[in-house]
Amino acid sequence: MLEDPVERRKYFKLKVGPEIEKIKDYLNKGNTFIAFLVGKKNAGKGTYSKLFMEAVGSDKVAHLSIGDIVRSVDRDLQNEVKRAELIKYLKEKYRGFITVEEVIERLKSRSTKNLLPTEAILSLVEREIDRLGRKAIFIDGFPRNLDQISYSLFFRALMGYRNDPDLFVFIDVPEAVIDERLKYRVVCPKCFTPRNIRVLRTKNIGYDKLTKKFYLMCDNSACSGVRMVPKEGDDLGIEAIRERIEIDDKVMRMLLNLQGVPRIYLRNSIPIDQANEYVDDYEITPAYRYEYDEKTKEVKVIEEPWSIKDDNGVQSYSLLPAPVEVALIKQIAHVLGL
Ligand SMILES: [Zn+2]
Repeated sequence: MLEDPVERRKYFKLKVGPEIEKIKDYLNKGNTFIAFLVGKKNAGKGTYSKLFMEAVGSDKVAHLSIGDIVRSVDRDLQNEVKRAELIKYLKEKYRGFITVEEVIERLKSRSTKNLLPTEAILSLVEREIDRLGRKAIFIDGFPRNLDQISYSLFFRALMGYRNDPDLFVFIDVPEAVIDERLKYRVVCPKCFTPRNIRVLRTKNIGYDKLTKKFYLMCDNSACSGVRMVPKEGDDLGIEAIRERIEIDDKVMRMLLNLQGVPRIYLRNSIPIDQANEYVDDYEITPAYRYEYDEKTKEVKVIEEPWSIKDDNGVQSYSLLPAPVEVALIKQIAHVLGL
């Protein structure tokens, strides 16, 4: 099963063994690259860079999430020493149209109205890159809007990577997949383990006779089967983040016209009528539905391939992350000329 790291290693070796060795060799010689992950929110950008690190090793590759950087800086501000370090760094490196003090203020009161200017975000990213040392990086969350696209074109020069290759990785995930990932996600109220009743189930399933609804029971032994619950607002699915999705879509469309920078395309789904030809059954994401047997008082779990309509209305299967990762590794090796 491709959800298991040991099985995945065998699978990667079988499918892209030579490419992995070439990329490792390239990185071990001190070479790097910068890959911008472009896709809609909840497209799985973090997953693909983490699997890349799993396949080629994480000592020479890093995943840089802009959202995570800003959040961690926010935490740093509560610590006197870290706060002073940050201010010192910004006083030396930051240039922009608001003062360092104002940057700090905006970091503290993060609201959608008082957005951090791109100049400040770039300073924070530079600081993170200084800490990481020379590594190949996957950038997650930049460019976040149309105004930031130009910065991404000159990003490697700004960050001192100069002649290292840069590339854009387009992640095409049907909105229906994002919708169900959000709509059916649940969390354990005790240990906060996230799951999804449709595509990421636990071992034991409960049935609520009152509401006639099924629910997952947490697998964590310390939780002794506590009922996992949805988050408020998740029943809206993708509509809850529609505004963000539209901006992400505009950024993707704009970047698709970009000349001069290599592009890589990843597709999360495959039309059902092509699946036989191109993928094996074990590469398709399993989905679950449940039936309750009144007599035995047991819940029956029915596993079937996760089938959704893609954005063109074509009935498709959603692929597991591993086969998509194979496409990423192949194309990165190709772009790097290996
Ligand atoms: Zn739990």
